[in-house]
Amino acid sequence: ANRRQSHRVVVIGLGRFGSSLAIELVRGGSEVLGIDNNPRLVQKLADELTHTAIADTTDVEALTQLGVPEFQRAVVGIGNDIEASILTTSVLSDFAIPSIWAKAISRQHGRILERVGAHHVVLPEHDMGERVAHLVTGRMLDYIEFEDDYALVKTLAPAEAIGRPLGETKVRAKYGVTVVGIKRPGTGFTYATPETVVNADDILIVAGERDRVENFADLV
Ligand code: ADP
Repeated sequence: ANRRQSHRVVVIGLGRFGSSLAIELVRGGSEVLGIDNNPRLVQKLADELTHTAIADTTDVEALTQLGVPEFQRAVVGIGNDIEASILTTSVLSDFAIPSIWAKAISRQHGRILERVGAHHVVLPEHDMGERVAHLVTGRMLDYIEFEDDYALVKTLAPAEAIGRPLGETKVRAKYGVTVVGIKRPGTGFTYATPETVVNADDILIVAGERDRVENFADLV
């Protein structure tokens, strides 16, 4: 049995961003109403989402008929048509939907979305650009930055951490980072403990302040 709570989410704009998001929500057990004014896109997703509808989401009447005011969560995935993005977000705000997420294509766009009532603004292209910057140099295998300059990084182990238990290497005291997980080639990730001995080809998951985590990855 699925013990996770099932959520109902309306996803507006089923382009690349909205469709990926909607499908992932369904995969995670949510009930999703997907709306787009492009019939071709709606038809493509009809079998994958719980409900789909063709509508212009700047139209209050259309959204009301679809029951959108009853949703607790909404995502506006319209980006390139800034006017439609802003109007749609303000309609959702007028409905007093408690959790409105909206995609922005620029910081200015994001600020306007907040003004008209978005509770959370995401900048996927901007954020992904920053993330990929950490990967192209090859020193990090993956990188996630959270708020407040905190980051989680996938990296190889620096020479001084190899061949000794983590507890003895003092990476936490010396570099201010915590090795959270470790992956031996051919096995899954396991939690790191002070007794874990790191091999040269192990992959580490390291958490800490962004600058400190970057310094640690630079040692590799
Ligand atoms: P992506 O880059 O994720 O593909 P786009 O901004 O190009 O995002 O596409 C967003 C989607 O929003 C498109 O499928 C488009 O048809 C839809 N859309 C744009 N304006 C409206 C509107 N007024 N009502 C409903 N859907 C809209």
